Amino acid sequence: MSTAIKTAAAIDAAIVANAEKPHRAHLGASVIGRPCERQLWYSFRWTLAEKHEPRMLRLFERGQLEEKRFVGYLRAAGVEIWEVNPETGKQWRIEDHEGHFGGSLDGVGRGIPDLPPDEAFVTEYKTHGDKSFEKLKAEGLLKAKWEHYVQTQVYMGKMSLRYALYIGVNKNTDELYFELVPFVQAEFDRAINRAKGIIWDAVPPARISDSPGYFACKYCHLNRLCHFGGVTPDRNCRTCVFGEPSGGGLWRCKHADVRSTPNKGFLDEAAQRAACPQYSARVELTTRQP
Ligand code: SF4
Ligand code: SF4
Repeated sequence: MSTAIKTAAAIDAAIVANAEKPHRAHLGASVIGRPCERQLWYSFRWTLAEKHEPRMLRLFERGQLEEKRFVGYLRAAGVEIWEVNPETGKQWRIEDHEGHFGGSLDGVGRGIPDLPPDEAFVTEYKTHGDKSFEKLKAEGLLKAKWEHYVQTQVYMGKMSLRYALYIGVNKNTDELYFELVPFVQAEFDRAINRAKGIIWDAVPPARISDSPGYFACKYCHLNRLCHFGGVTPDRNCRTCVFGEPSGGGLWRCKHADVRSTPNKGFLDEAAQRAACPQYSARVELTTRQP
């Protein structure tokens, strides 16, 4: 029996209030391996923000907090770990497609006994529930966690490193899983090309299924918009008929009034989120598409 219901509610409210802004500025390497390209296309265009319950937000945070533990274990074993890029003092970042595609690495390491001493590698740490962890142990990363596998391929390719050290933890038992993932050029190329289409194509890619009851669609927050249309998208420059991705990670407005302003229609993230009075929702985002 919970006797501190108001306290629990106050904490939940604070977690929601402090949560990151909805919609990510870029298409992330951590999601490029997801099964549905259309879902990624809608997400990159800030179509409908996914609302997460406080419990889910805590789960995401837990994944980040675990990273420190992994770093501590590796250092205790004599492994060199760089959590940040020593040249910038900031988190390692990779990007492509004019800055519209990118990701942040957990770290770079060197000196594990499974590799030659000078062979540097990417580190990737993930938390798992029981079922996911058992599958990972039984099948390995490529088969059990495709999204994570692709993420490591993108990081290795962009960092010009030949290996990734993937560490998973079972949140229920604290059991650890270690896998050395070799770089595969073809998978890297495939992921980069996939990102290209999602970012630059003006029309949505095919659905993963035409059935709204299909497993992946049933739990997709875009289900109604994608399969039936008639949904009002979030109001921002990415859902506006005049907005389009441009260079330097910016978006650009095609509306003559906005192009005639001193910034020539280039829109930074804040401007994209704000939109302007000329806003007009794109038809591809309000109606059911083939
Ligand atoms: S509803 Fe299904 S097809 Fe549509 S975006 Fe979501 S997963 Fe993809
Ligand atoms: S600046 Fe205005 S007209 Fe241009 S894309 Fe944004 S909302 Fe649309």
